[in-house]
Amino acid sequence: MGHHADTTRVQKHIGDPLEGTEEVSREFMEEIFQDIQSDIRFDHELNGCLNCGICTATCPAAHYYDFSPREIVQLLWTENLEGIHDAMQEKIWSCAQCYTCAARCPFGNSPGGLVMLMREAAIKHGMESAKSVLRPFSRVMLKLISTGNQLSPDMISNDAFPDWGPNICKVDAPLKVLRAAIPVPTLNTIKTAWETNLKTSVELYTIWEETGVLDQLETVDENLFDVIVDLMDEKRDDWDDFLDEQDED
Ligand code: SF4
Ligand code: SF4
Repeated sequence: MGHHADTTRVQKHIGDPLEGTEEVSREFMEEIFQDIQSDIRFDHELNGCLNCGICTATCPAAHYYDFSPREIVQLLWTENLEGIHDAMQEKIWSCAQCYTCAARCPFGNSPGGLVMLMREAAIKHGMESAKSVLRPFSRVMLKLISTGNQLSPDMISNDAFPDWGPNICKVDAPLKVLRAAIPVPTLNTIKTAWETNLKTSVELYTIWEETGVLDQLETVDENLFDVIVDLMDEKRDDWDDFLDEQDED
């Protein structure tokens, strides 16, 4: 597939720590725009733009960050290659993907959807911005297929969540209430919260494989990708053994 050849060439552009300040070839920027524009969703999500700013006025991210969906749409609509590349270094990662903009745009555009296409292109081309933003989140994938991502009541405490800031003291766990609200099997043991069902793991992994999520992970965090592949090779063997046993019975 041409993807790998492209990625190698792109690495030359982004391998330098000065990425973003160094000159980027027009060919590379065209390639990125082609990727975004050729996506089947592009024409659905960009129908024109009045530059009215309604999207930015309703956008929560624009309220807090140096980010404007109007600007993003204008860059794509006018095919401003430098501006598109520049926005992909930081701005596109500010969007909360809430799609308030899409509900309000008089042209029926989806600025949030266009941001998603730009993010996918940033991942595909291994841009440093994608790696630094997504690396911490990619750890969640390992949790999902191994320990699960649940909280048991006794985990909700000030000490367990120092990163929640000083207000964590206001949500200190009312253990009796929480225990009454959770299913009995979970109540008796926290084991169910720490072991993802084998079939679920294998199904989830297969979905990631089929939808290209694993390829994206490989670009963003190769080490974590290797860990997950090794883990899932074992789990798949276990699952095959289980199915064989079922057949024998
Ligand atoms: S989807 Fe993104 S661009 Fe649109 S309103 Fe929400 S945060 Fe803003
Ligand atoms: S994307 Fe829609 S709401 Fe935003 S500036 Fe363009 S026409 Fe206005």
